[in-house]
Amino acid sequence: VWKGCLDYIQDNINSQAFKTWFLPIKPLKLQGVVLTIQVPSKFFYEWLEEHYIKLLKSAITRELGDDAKLVYSIVMENTYGNSNPHTVKIPSTNRGPIKNPKVSMPVEIGGNDGIRNPFVIPGLKKVHVESQLNPNYTFESFIEGDCNRLARSAGFAVANKPGGTSFNPLLIYGGVGLGKTHLAHGIGIEIKDRYPEKTVLYVSAEKFTQQFIDSIRNNTKNDFVHFYQMIDVLIIDDVQSFSGKEKTQDVFFEIFNHLHQHGKQVVLTSDRAPVDLQGMEQRLLSRFKWGLSADLQKPDLETRIAILRKKLFTDGIEMPDDVIEYLAYSINSNVRELEGALISLLAQSSLNKKKITVELAKQMIDKFVKNTTREISIDYIQKVVCDYFDMPMELLKSKTRKREIVQARQLTMFFAKQLTKNSLATIGAQCGNKDHATVLHACRTVNNLAETDKRFRTYVDDLKKKLTLA
Ligand code: ADP
Ligand code: MG
Repeated sequence: VWKGCLDYIQDNINSQAFKTWFLPIKPLKLQGVVLTIQVPSKFFYEWLEEHYIKLLKSAITRELGDDAKLVYSIVMENTYGNSNPHTVKIPSTNRGPIKNPKVSMPVEIGGNDGIRNPFVIPGLKKVHVESQLNPNYTFESFIEGDCNRLARSAGFAVANKPGGTSFNPLLIYGGVGLGKTHLAHGIGIEIKDRYPEKTVLYVSAEKFTQQFIDSIRNNTKNDFVHFYQMIDVLIIDDVQSFSGKEKTQDVFFEIFNHLHQHGKQVVLTSDRAPVDLQGMEQRLLSRFKWGLSADLQKPDLETRIAILRKKLFTDGIEMPDDVIEYLAYSINSNVRELEGALISLLAQSSLNKKKITVELAKQMIDKFVKNTTREISIDYIQKVVCDYFDMPMELLKSKTRKREIVQARQLTMFFAKQLTKNSLATIGAQCGNKDHATVLHACRTVNNLAETDKRFRTYVDDLKKKLTLA
């Protein structure tokens, strides 16, 4: 059916738009006239709804008749309990087809579309548990950088020997959009690959809590506990949400102890360090310390570029290097925003049939990206200055007193002061370990020279144009 829809859609829009917006969609299931498709992100879904709903509708009614319904499933965004105002329903997790079912009736856990009284099917020795892993979040697609090296390699060690390392539990923590969820899935996928017989389960802490509450309501708490106690590798995402929920913490404590005693692996993620987990019982926190806590930092420039390249490569999209670099330079907050910007840019270019250029990227960033990330970075200024003078970055950052280099350095500081919100001290530190007085001096020198030296004036004007794209 989906193939039929795609053929129809392809005939009705340009190929770039088709490639960007429709090829990444995966058909998940068809139940009667209800077709479930999986989209890579919320942004993607909103975009489809906003721009292609008519097209989608006619494609689907052509295939399935007037009663056809479309359900979106968004890959790995925390939409538990989120029912959409439109007729669209978004299941909270991605549930692909069940591979290699061991028993006739799989146990389905959670999903906000009707949690069936779930946990154990009596009389079966081994139940099949759908792992709830997102197949896109592999280790392979998780780019390694200084920012994530420890967490990544600890994750890898755990995946090699689940329950058999001293990293139990493994707690991965870090700010929003830095890859906790991705890495958590990666570990699960790797384990499933190596040890297909192991029961792996990924669950968000929120969903765990909801299931627990439901089990109390339905008088099935024992089933709930038993179900979790038979998991071999339990991955719980965003455990900070257990804060202040004593009953949930108690039951998790019980389950954790059981799993740990039986050599089962527990992987947890949190958006803050264990010491900052207020509202978490001390005994739980002390359990966390049994294993390893590894943090994810903001990715550095190189890693950001590598992440963009990898994504483009995977999606088979080409993009000029200077645009990739501009995106990576401009967006340093987190990987999610970086990916969001990339998607917006592709969307902009495909919808307006514009070529992907630095200009377009700049416009898009001005329009879509929050103020905090819009500011250009000192890194970027350094890069533009170096390109302009055709000078290696090491020289710019060195202590060389050669005149040309000194001037380039002063121009960098001048623009950093003018175009970023960084303090004089920060600017100095990033421009070859200078103090704030040196930065001030640089700014004055640039102003003076621009007035007296015509050639220097051109430098300033050119660079300003390049940096602000004015
Ligand atoms: P978090 O759970 O920490 O908020 P996510 O795991 O959801 O962050 O990551 C946000 C997005 O960034 C995801 O699409 C993820 O694939 C991507 N991402 C994060 N870190 C990396 C990385 N090191 N390499 C590739 N993609 C990454
Ligand atoms: Mg997450």
